[in-house]
Amino acid sequence: MLSKKITDGTELVVFDMEWNQPFSGKTVSNEITVLPGEIIEIGAVKYEYSGGRLSRKAVFSCDIKPVIYKKLHYHVMKITHKTDEDLKNGISFKEAAANFRDFMQGADLLVGWGNSDPKILKNNLKFFGLDDSLGVDFLDLQPIFSVFCGQPGQQKSVEFAVDFYNIAKQDIFHSATADAQYTGEVFEEIFEHNKPAEVISAVSSSSVNPDMPSEFSFTGSDVKEADAAFAEVEEKILICPLCSARLASTISPFRIRKSLYGLMNCSTHGDIFVRVRAKRRTGGKYYAAVVMRFATQNDYYLVASKKEEFDKYGVKGAPAPAPQQPSEEEGQTNCE
Ligand SMILES: [Zn+2]
Repeated sequence: MLSKKITDGTELVVFDMEWNQPFSGKTVSNEITVLPGEIIEIGAVKYEYSGGRLSRKAVFSCDIKPVIYKKLHYHVMKITHKTDEDLKNGISFKEAAANFRDFMQGADLLVGWGNSDPKILKNNLKFFGLDDSLGVDFLDLQPIFSVFCGQPGQQKSVEFAVDFYNIAKQDIFHSATADAQYTGEVFEEIFEHNKPAEVISAVSSSSVNPDMPSEFSFTGSDVKEADAAFAEVEEKILICPLCSARLASTISPFRIRKSLYGLMNCSTHGDIFVRVRAKRRTGGKYYAAVVMRFATQNDYYLVASKKEEFDKYGVKGAPAPAPQQPSEEEGQTNCE
Protein backbone atom coordinates (compact mmCIF):
# COMPACT_ATOMS: atom_id res chain seq x y z
CA MET A 1 0.00 0.00 0.00
CA LEU A 2 1.31 3.40 -0.95
CA SER A 3 2.57 5.11 2.19
CA LYS A 4 1.81 8.54 0.75
CA LYS A 5 -1.19 9.18 -1.49
CA ILE A 6 -0.82 10.99 -4.78
CA THR A 7 -1.75 14.64 -4.22
CA ASP A 8 -1.01 17.88 -6.06
CA GLY A 9 2.76 18.24 -6.33
CA THR A 10 3.53 14.51 -6.02
CA GLU A 11 6.38 13.52 -8.30
CA LEU A 12 6.65 10.10 -9.84
CA VAL A 13 9.16 8.39 -12.08
CA VAL A 14 8.09 6.01 -14.83
CA PHE A 15 10.98 3.76 -15.80
CA ASP A 16 11.98 0.83 -17.95
CA MET A 17 15.18 -1.15 -18.33
CA GLU A 18 16.76 -3.56 -20.76
CA TRP A 19 19.11 -6.26 -19.55
CA ASN A 20 21.34 -8.83 -21.16
CA GLN A 21 21.16 -12.50 -20.28
CA PRO A 22 23.85 -15.16 -20.07
CA PHE A 23 23.92 -17.80 -22.79
CA SER A 24 22.57 -20.95 -21.23
CA GLY A 25 25.16 -23.69 -20.91
CA LYS A 26 28.10 -21.48 -21.88
CA THR A 27 28.72 -19.51 -18.72
CA VAL A 28 28.57 -22.27 -16.16
CA SER A 29 29.17 -20.33 -13.01
CA ASN A 30 27.16 -19.20 -10.05
CA GLU A 31 26.88 -15.76 -11.71
CA ILE A 32 23.69 -16.92 -13.42
CA THR A 33 21.90 -17.45 -10.13
CA VAL A 34 23.15 -14.22 -8.54
CA LEU A 35 22.88 -12.13 -11.72
CA PRO A 36 20.11 -13.46 -13.97
CA GLY A 37 20.28 -10.31 -16.12
CA GLU A 38 22.84 -7.50 -16.46
CA ILE A 39 21.25 -4.07 -17.04
CA ILE A 40 22.33 -2.43 -20.31
CA GLU A 41 19.88 0.47 -20.53
CA ILE A 42 17.75 2.55 -18.15
CA GLY A 43 15.10 4.94 -19.45
CA ALA A 44 12.81 7.08 -17.29
CA VAL A 45 10.42 10.01 -17.34
CA LYS A 46 9.66 12.19 -14.34
CA TYR A 47 6.10 13.44 -13.90
CA GLU A 48 4.36 15.79 -11.54
CA TYR A 49 0.73 15.20 -10.62
CA SER A 50 -1.48 18.24 -10.32
CA GLY A 51 -5.18 18.93 -10.74
CA GLY A 52 -6.10 15.46 -11.98
CA ARG A 53 -3.34 15.14 -14.55
CA LEU A 54 0.28 14.20 -15.02
CA SER A 55 2.75 16.60 -16.54
CA ARG A 56 6.12 15.61 -17.85
CA LYS A 57 9.10 17.22 -16.09
CA ALA A 58 12.25 15.47 -17.28
CA VAL A 59 13.58 12.52 -19.26
CA PHE A 60 16.41 10.19 -18.30
CA SER A 61 18.25 7.83 -20.61
CA CYS A 62 21.49 5.94 -20.35
CA ASP A 63 23.28 3.00 -21.92
CA ILE A 64 25.37 0.79 -19.69
CA LYS A 65 28.42 -1.18 -20.74
CA PRO A 66 28.07 -4.72 -19.42
CA VAL A 67 31.08 -6.28 -17.71
CA ILE A 68 29.74 -9.77 -16.99
CA TYR A 69 27.59 -10.71 -19.99
CA LYS A 70 29.43 -8.74 -22.69
CA LYS A 71 28.01 -10.51 -25.70
CA LEU A 72 24.36 -9.82 -26.47
CA HIS A 73 22.07 -12.79 -26.10
CA TYR A 74 20.35 -13.43 -29.46
CA HIS A 75 16.96 -13.08 -27.81
CA VAL A 76 17.89 -9.68 -26.32
CA MET A 77 19.39 -8.62 -29.67
CA LYS A 78 16.17 -9.55 -31.44
CA ILE A 79 13.83 -7.62 -29.14
CA THR A 80 16.02 -4.57 -28.41
CA HIS A 81 17.60 -4.09 -31.87
CA LYS A 82 20.92 -3.44 -30.11
CA THR A 83 24.29 -4.75 -31.30
CA ASP A 84 27.46 -5.81 -29.50
CA GLU A 85 29.00 -2.54 -30.74
CA ASP A 86 26.26 -0.48 -29.01
CA LEU A 87 27.11 -2.11 -25.69
CA LYS A 88 30.68 -0.80 -25.80
CA ASN A 89 29.52 2.83 -25.73
CA GLY A 90 27.77 2.67 -22.39
CA ILE A 91 28.85 3.98 -18.99
CA SER A 92 29.50 1.78 -15.96
CA PHE A 93 26.53 0.46 -13.99
CA LYS A 94 27.85 2.23 -10.90
CA GLU A 95 27.78 5.59 -12.65
CA ALA A 96 24.37 4.87 -14.21
CA ALA A 97 22.90 3.87 -10.84
CA ALA A 98 24.18 7.08 -9.23
CA ASN A 99 22.75 9.18 -12.08
CA PHE A 100 19.41 7.38 -11.85
CA ARG A 101 19.27 7.96 -8.08
CA ASP A 102 19.87 11.66 -8.70
CA PHE A 103 17.07 11.66 -11.23
CA MET A 104 14.71 9.88 -8.78
CA GLN A 105 15.42 12.47 -6.08
CA GLY A 106 12.14 13.85 -4.74
CA ALA A 107 9.91 11.23 -6.39
CA ASP A 108 7.37 9.40 -4.22
CA LEU A 109 6.56 6.61 -6.61
CA LEU A 110 8.39 4.50 -9.15
CA VAL A 111 6.19 3.18 -11.95
CA GLY A 112 6.89 0.36 -14.41
CA TRP A 113 5.16 -2.04 -16.79
CA GLY A 114 5.28 -5.52 -15.23
CA ASN A 115 6.90 -6.27 -11.91
CA SER A 116 10.32 -7.55 -12.98
CA ASP A 117 12.22 -4.24 -13.35
CA PRO A 118 12.54 -3.37 -9.63
CA LYS A 119 13.72 -6.92 -8.91
CA ILE A 120 16.41 -6.79 -11.60
CA LEU A 121 17.46 -3.29 -10.50
CA LYS A 122 17.86 -4.39 -6.87
CA ASN A 123 19.63 -7.52 -8.03
CA ASN A 124 22.18 -5.52 -10.08
CA LEU A 125 22.74 -2.99 -7.28
CA LYS A 126 23.49 -5.83 -4.90
CA PHE A 127 25.70 -7.69 -7.38
CA PHE A 128 27.84 -4.58 -7.95
CA GLY A 129 28.20 -3.95 -4.23
CA LEU A 130 25.87 -0.92 -4.06
CA ASP A 131 23.04 -0.11 -1.64
CA ASP A 132 20.11 -2.07 -3.07
CA SER A 133 17.27 -0.29 -1.27
CA LEU A 134 15.14 1.76 -3.66
CA GLY A 135 13.54 3.82 -0.89
CA VAL A 136 10.37 4.49 -2.84
CA ASP A 137 7.13 2.60 -3.50
CA PHE A 138 6.68 0.80 -6.79
CA LEU A 139 3.58 0.58 -8.98
CA ASP A 140 3.10 -2.00 -11.73
CA LEU A 141 0.95 -0.03 -14.20
CA GLN A 142 0.09 -3.10 -16.32
CA PRO A 143 -2.78 -4.48 -14.14
CA ILE A 144 -4.02 -0.90 -13.53
CA PHE A 145 -4.31 -0.40 -17.28
CA SER A 146 -6.18 -3.74 -17.61
CA VAL A 147 -8.73 -2.57 -15.04
CA PHE A 148 -9.31 0.79 -16.72
CA CYS A 149 -9.46 -0.68 -20.24
CA GLY A 150 -12.21 -3.02 -19.05
CA GLN A 151 -10.16 -6.22 -19.12
CA PRO A 152 -9.25 -6.76 -15.46
CA GLY A 153 -6.93 -9.66 -14.80
CA GLN A 154 -5.61 -9.80 -18.37
CA GLN A 155 -1.98 -9.18 -19.17
CA LYS A 156 -1.50 -6.58 -21.87
CA SER A 157 1.68 -5.33 -23.53
CA VAL A 158 2.64 -1.68 -23.45
CA GLU A 159 2.22 -1.70 -27.24
CA PHE A 160 -1.39 -2.86 -26.80
CA ALA A 161 -2.00 0.02 -24.36
CA VAL A 162 -0.41 2.52 -26.77
CA ASP A 163 -2.79 1.36 -29.53
CA PHE A 164 -5.74 1.35 -27.13
CA TYR A 165 -5.29 5.08 -26.46
CA ASN A 166 -4.16 5.93 -30.03
CA ILE A 167 -0.85 7.25 -28.77
CA ALA A 168 1.43 8.31 -31.61
CA LYS A 169 4.31 5.90 -32.17
CA GLN A 170 7.54 7.74 -32.75
CA ASP A 171 10.13 5.24 -31.71
CA ILE A 172 10.70 1.51 -31.73
CA PHE A 173 9.39 -0.53 -28.86
CA HIS A 174 11.74 -2.36 -26.51
CA SER A 175 14.27 0.35 -26.07
CA ALA A 176 14.10 1.23 -22.37
CA THR A 177 13.80 4.94 -23.08
CA ALA A 178 11.03 4.50 -25.65
CA ASP A 179 9.12 2.05 -23.45
CA ALA A 180 9.40 4.32 -20.40
CA GLN A 181 7.99 7.18 -22.49
CA TYR A 182 5.14 5.04 -23.82
CA THR A 183 4.36 3.78 -20.30
CA GLY A 184 4.29 7.39 -19.09
CA GLU A 185 1.95 8.39 -21.90
CA VAL A 186 -0.36 5.46 -21.08
CA PHE A 187 -0.43 6.65 -17.45
CA GLU A 188 -1.29 10.19 -18.66
CA GLU A 189 -4.16 8.74 -20.72
CA ILE A 190 -5.48 6.66 -17.80
CA PHE A 191 -5.82 9.89 -15.80
CA GLU A 192 -7.25 11.67 -18.84
CA HIS A 193 -10.05 9.15 -19.44
CA ASN A 194 -11.04 8.27 -15.88
CA LYS A 195 -11.94 9.96 -12.63
CA PRO A 196 -8.62 10.95 -11.02
CA ALA A 197 -9.86 9.90 -7.56
CA GLU A 198 -10.56 6.39 -8.87
CA VAL A 199 -7.15 6.16 -10.52
CA ILE A 200 -5.42 7.39 -7.36
CA SER A 201 -7.32 4.87 -5.26
CA ALA A 202 -6.31 1.98 -7.57
CA VAL A 203 -2.71 3.22 -7.57
CA SER A 204 -2.58 3.50 -3.76
CA SER A 205 -3.95 0.04 -3.17
CA SER A 206 -1.59 -1.53 -5.72
CA SER A 207 1.71 0.12 -4.86
CA VAL A 208 4.21 -2.01 -2.99
CA ASN A 209 7.40 -1.34 -1.11
CA PRO A 210 10.03 -3.04 -3.30
CA ASP A 211 12.46 -3.11 -0.37
CA MET A 212 10.18 -5.42 1.60
CA PRO A 213 9.35 -8.97 0.60
CA SER A 214 5.94 -8.83 -1.06
CA GLU A 215 5.23 -12.54 -1.27
CA PHE A 216 5.41 -15.18 1.41
CA SER A 217 5.04 -18.86 0.76
CA PHE A 218 5.14 -21.80 3.10
CA THR A 219 3.86 -25.34 3.29
CA GLY A 220 1.90 -27.17 5.96
CA SER A 221 2.82 -30.56 7.34
CA ASP A 222 1.89 -33.88 5.75
CA VAL A 223 -1.60 -35.14 6.52
CA LYS A 224 -3.83 -37.95 5.24
CA GLU A 225 -6.63 -35.96 3.62
CA ALA A 226 -6.92 -32.80 1.53
CA ASP A 227 -9.45 -31.45 4.06
CA ALA A 228 -6.93 -31.89 6.84
CA ALA A 229 -4.31 -30.04 4.78
CA PHE A 230 -6.58 -26.96 4.67
CA ALA A 231 -7.47 -27.29 8.35
CA GLU A 232 -3.81 -27.51 9.24
CA VAL A 233 -3.03 -23.98 7.93
CA GLU A 234 -6.42 -22.37 8.69
CA GLU A 235 -5.03 -20.38 11.66
CA LYS A 236 -1.74 -19.49 9.94
CA ILE A 237 -3.44 -17.64 7.11
CA LEU A 238 -5.08 -15.32 9.63
CA ILE A 239 -1.73 -13.89 10.73
CA CYS A 240 0.09 -11.08 8.88
CA PRO A 241 3.39 -12.56 7.60
CA LEU A 242 5.13 -9.22 8.16
CA CYS A 243 3.99 -8.12 11.62
CA SER A 244 2.10 -11.18 13.00
CA ALA A 245 -1.01 -9.09 13.66
CA ARG A 246 -4.37 -10.83 13.37
CA LEU A 247 -5.82 -10.21 9.90
CA ALA A 248 -9.36 -9.12 9.21
CA SER A 249 -11.07 -10.71 6.22
CA THR A 250 -12.28 -8.51 3.39
CA ILE A 251 -13.37 -11.63 1.48
CA SER A 252 -13.43 -14.55 3.93
CA PRO A 253 -11.43 -17.57 2.78
CA PHE A 254 -13.52 -19.96 0.67
CA ARG A 255 -12.64 -23.17 -1.08
CA ILE A 256 -13.16 -24.34 -4.65
CA ARG A 257 -12.03 -27.93 -5.18
CA LYS A 258 -8.38 -28.20 -4.09
CA SER A 259 -7.77 -24.42 -3.81
CA LEU A 260 -8.70 -21.88 -1.19
CA TYR A 261 -8.79 -18.12 -1.79
CA GLY A 262 -9.21 -15.13 0.45
CA LEU A 263 -8.59 -11.42 0.70
CA MET A 264 -7.32 -10.43 4.13
CA ASN A 265 -6.41 -7.09 5.63
CA CYS A 266 -3.68 -6.05 8.04
CA SER A 267 -4.36 -2.67 9.64
CA THR A 268 -0.67 -1.76 9.12
CA HIS A 269 0.17 -3.46 5.84
CA GLY A 270 -3.08 -3.32 3.89
CA ASP A 271 -4.72 -5.98 1.75
CA ILE A 272 -3.16 -9.42 1.58
CA PHE A 273 -4.12 -12.02 -0.99
CA VAL A 274 -4.17 -15.62 0.26
CA ARG A 275 -4.20 -18.79 -1.80
CA VAL A 276 -3.86 -22.32 -0.40
CA ARG A 277 -3.56 -25.39 -2.58
CA ALA A 278 -3.88 -28.91 -1.25
CA LYS A 279 -1.13 -30.88 -2.94
CA ARG A 280 -0.57 -34.61 -3.00
CA ARG A 281 2.80 -36.23 -2.51
CA THR A 282 3.81 -39.37 -4.41
CA GLY A 283 3.31 -41.39 -1.23
CA GLY A 284 -0.36 -40.32 -1.18
CA LYS A 285 -0.18 -37.82 1.68
CA TYR A 286 -1.45 -34.26 1.35
CA TYR A 287 0.03 -30.94 2.38
CA ALA A 288 -1.03 -27.31 1.99
CA ALA A 289 1.00 -24.95 -0.22
CA VAL A 290 0.29 -21.42 0.98
CA VAL A 291 0.97 -18.13 -0.83
CA MET A 292 0.29 -14.81 0.89
CA ARG A 293 1.14 -11.56 -0.87
CA PHE A 294 0.31 -7.87 -0.98
CA ALA A 295 -2.79 -7.80 -3.13
CA THR A 296 -2.46 -6.32 -6.61
CA GLN A 297 -5.23 -5.47 -9.08
CA ASN A 298 -4.89 -8.96 -10.58
CA ASP A 299 -5.37 -10.53 -7.16
CA TYR A 300 -8.51 -8.48 -6.43
CA TYR A 301 -9.91 -9.61 -9.75
CA LEU A 302 -8.91 -13.24 -9.20
CA VAL A 303 -10.52 -13.43 -5.74
CA ALA A 304 -13.66 -11.63 -6.89
CA SER A 305 -14.14 -13.91 -9.90
CA LYS A 306 -13.44 -17.06 -7.86
CA LYS A 307 -15.90 -15.82 -5.22
CA GLU A 308 -18.53 -15.45 -7.91
CA GLU A 309 -17.85 -19.02 -9.01
CA PHE A 310 -18.04 -20.19 -5.39
CA ASP A 311 -21.31 -18.38 -4.73
CA LYS A 312 -22.79 -20.00 -7.81
CA TYR A 313 -21.41 -23.53 -7.64
CA GLY A 314 -20.00 -23.95 -4.12
CA VAL A 315 -16.94 -25.98 -3.21
CA LYS A 316 -17.23 -28.14 -6.37
CA GLY A 317 -16.70 -25.08 -8.58
CA ALA A 318 -17.96 -24.54 -12.12
CA PRO A 319 -18.50 -27.82 -13.98
CA ALA A 320 -15.57 -28.62 -16.29
CA PRO A 321 -15.11 -27.65 -19.05
CA ALA A 322 -16.15 -24.23 -17.76
CA PRO A 323 -18.99 -22.84 -19.89
CA GLN A 324 -18.20 -19.59 -21.71
CA GLN A 325 -20.09 -16.78 -20.05
CA PRO A 326 -21.72 -14.54 -22.69
CA SER A 327 -20.57 -11.43 -20.82
CA GLU A 328 -16.93 -12.54 -21.09
CA GLU A 329 -17.16 -13.05 -24.82
CA GLU A 330 -18.54 -9.58 -25.31
CA GLY A 331 -15.74 -8.05 -23.32
CA GLN A 332 -13.01 -9.83 -25.23
CA THR A 333 -13.64 -8.35 -28.65
CA ASN A 334 -12.97 -4.68 -28.01
CA CYS A 335 -9.75 -5.13 -26.10
CA GLU A 336 -7.88 -7.79 -28.07
ZN1 LIG B 1 0.98 -6.55 9.06
